[in-house]
Amino acid sequence: MSLFPDLPDTARRRRVSVLLPLPFPGTLDYALADTQDLRPGDIVSVPLSGRKETGVVWEHDGTLPPELDPQRNAEPQPDIPDNRLRAVSAKLDIPPLPEALRRFIDWVAAYTLASPGMVLALCLRAHLRGAEARPLSGWTPADPLPEALRLTPARQAILTALQDAPPLTTAALAKRSGSSPAVIRGLAEARAILPVTIGADLPFGCPEPGHNPPSLAGQQAEVAQNLRTAVTENRFSVTLLEGVTGSGKTEVCLEAIAACLEAGKQALILLPEIALSAQWTERFARRFGTRPAIWHSELGPKIRALTWTACMNGTARVIVGARSALFLPLNAPGLIIVDEEHETAFKQEDGVMYNARDMAVVRARQAGIPIVLVSATPGLETLTNARSGRYRHLSLTSRHGGASLPRTRMIDLRENPPPRGCFLSPALTDALADTFAKKEQAMLFLNRRGYAPLTLCRTCGHRFECPDCTSWLVEHRARRILACHHCEHTEPVPDRCPSCSAEHTLTPVGPGIERITEEARTLFPEARILVMASDIQTTPAAMTEAIRSISDRETDLIIGTQIVAKGWHFPHLTLVGVVDADLGLGGADLRAGERTIQLLHQVAGRAGRAEAAGTVMFQSFSPEHPVMQALISGDFQAFMEQESRQRQPGFWPPFGRLAALIVSSSREEDADNAARTLGMAAPQGEGIQVLGPAPAPLALLRGRHRRRLLLRTRRHIAVQPVLRHWLSTVSLPSSVRVDIDVDPVSFM
Ligand code: ADP
Ligand code: ZN
Repeated sequence: MSLFPDLPDTARRRRVSVLLPLPFPGTLDYALADTQDLRPGDIVSVPLSGRKETGVVWEHDGTLPPELDPQRNAEPQPDIPDNRLRAVSAKLDIPPLPEALRRFIDWVAAYTLASPGMVLALCLRAHLRGAEARPLSGWTPADPLPEALRLTPARQAILTALQDAPPLTTAALAKRSGSSPAVIRGLAEARAILPVTIGADLPFGCPEPGHNPPSLAGQQAEVAQNLRTAVTENRFSVTLLEGVTGSGKTEVCLEAIAACLEAGKQALILLPEIALSAQWTERFARRFGTRPAIWHSELGPKIRALTWTACMNGTARVIVGARSALFLPLNAPGLIIVDEEHETAFKQEDGVMYNARDMAVVRARQAGIPIVLVSATPGLETLTNARSGRYRHLSLTSRHGGASLPRTRMIDLRENPPPRGCFLSPALTDALADTFAKKEQAMLFLNRRGYAPLTLCRTCGHRFECPDCTSWLVEHRARRILACHHCEHTEPVPDRCPSCSAEHTLTPVGPGIERITEEARTLFPEARILVMASDIQTTPAAMTEAIRSISDRETDLIIGTQIVAKGWHFPHLTLVGVVDADLGLGGADLRAGERTIQLLHQVAGRAGRAEAAGTVMFQSFSPEHPVMQALISGDFQAFMEQESRQRQPGFWPPFGRLAALIVSSSREEDADNAARTLGMAAPQGEGIQVLGPAPAPLALLRGRHRRRLLLRTRRHIAVQPVLRHWLSTVSLPSSVRVDIDVDPVSFM
């Protein structure tokens, strides 16, 4: 019998739901002290198994579409009795997480089937840091310097660096002077340098929409006007901006941004690769007189914090960033632009598997603002939406200023083979020689880092493989190692074969860009060669420097991986050679053709972007392949129509929906059993089909054995409830992990 039978409801301890940035299925309940007043979004510190965690007060308000609502099918959680409920420790003195972001986090979690805590984690770390934003402080030299100051060379270097320069932060000063922060602290203690606030010096300014407007005519003017209208309408719309490379897509996007600035709103620009922000920044500064705010994971903590605060309070008017910028708080969003929307880099493949392009559309819809998807080679999903009228479709069909599209030429490697042991055909090397003779620039493209993708022993046939992955080891000759491109495993190149002990028998098979560089150096010893790859220019600054050396014609030949295919504008580049056009076509990937044509079309688009006409040469063993044919004819549209017709009957995306289940375990047997269990419990029904289980192409990755299942449904059936129900019917050992990939891009 209860002691207080008539206790009214209000006397129950008050509860609050808190979302923690951890992989729990949902929120946790905590108790509130009588004096505490908490609202959704508040940042709180709560106890969790003996430690303190920072979380966000969350509400469930049912704004999710029913098919995505994880609450709908979920078993009601047993309420923890009030007396066992732990109390919220404290409310932190940090601005709350805005409602718009909370709704977005819920949506992304429900769509990707990730735990909402892990989606929260994507934005919370920046949020906490951002809230700590303090004005930047820097150093300035004391004048006069204290008497009896001991001047070591390191100290002198610091004082020299500060001479006639604006105040520098500790980090900037250390970099400029080559002295360590400890030496800087020493000088500060000796009062030879003094702290000053440089907080007003944000790395971006207030863009002026009328600073340097372009003169637009014809199609460009029309498209720009359409985009401006979409912005001033100030409601949700999706526009596909399709235009050949060099047609002025960036130029008209800047007009949409101008309209957004005029309306007093903020614009968010998502790029597939943060390296591209350098060129965007420059274009932007010319148009608006100042730099945009830049957001990516490698920003220093201070700049990151300042930028975050500026997004939140509206000081940052235009933000250019990689996919994580999608989770920034915005004060008054007015426009989202996704540049190179077809890029697979928008898909995050680990942790929360989300496609930033698709989630950007969701964010625009929730915010009630326009979004523009930009590409020369839009993805089939986007094209299909444009064709059905769900998206507006704007096109720019010719290059600006009379620059012509490059001539394309297929080199049949069966008829025009390279010399033995080489990879560049005579036709291509002749063209390179001509280009250098005319003092023009050339580029060789090969989407493979390192020297050779396979090393084998000539005597016994031993192949070097990664011990933890289904993958050959790639030789990196300059670093004298064999490296796995799927994990961190590296090993030195041995002197003798580990299998048969023969000496000097190891042979590289096939080319990577290092090997192509070696070949080019031998052929053209005079040419100034720049190698570009993600493991060479590892920072945006290094990338900016590489781009500058190309623009300033300090480079004759660029040799690079897919990084060179991005939206770069190289006015003096007239020849592009694709070393292995067939490279992306192997494998059973649904999108191999589409992906290859997008990539190669993009690479080709680097050539002849100014007055001088450009040429693109594709080396291929199968010039009759539809992808090669489309590259030669330049008829991208016809190719995509054919792709579309091929996918329709089987209800492959975009005509149906896909979700992949990747079952993995460090024990092969466990992975197999779990995959079989899932296979036997596979959902059935009209318009629902499960393929697999089958070993993943990367059957072993980082020591985990992987099996795949693929759920395919008709368009009108959402995969999320089907997946949720499916997973709830099986119980798997804890050694097994199931990763869910909704709308998979990679099939590895
Ligand atoms: P895309 O983004 O389609 O590749 P860009 O916007 O980069 O094309 O334009 C290609 C080049 O032409 C750039 O150097 C750009 O400055 C120039 N350009 C395009 N349109 C104009 C214009 N209306 N006035 C002046 N320059 C232009
Ligand atoms: Zn590996």
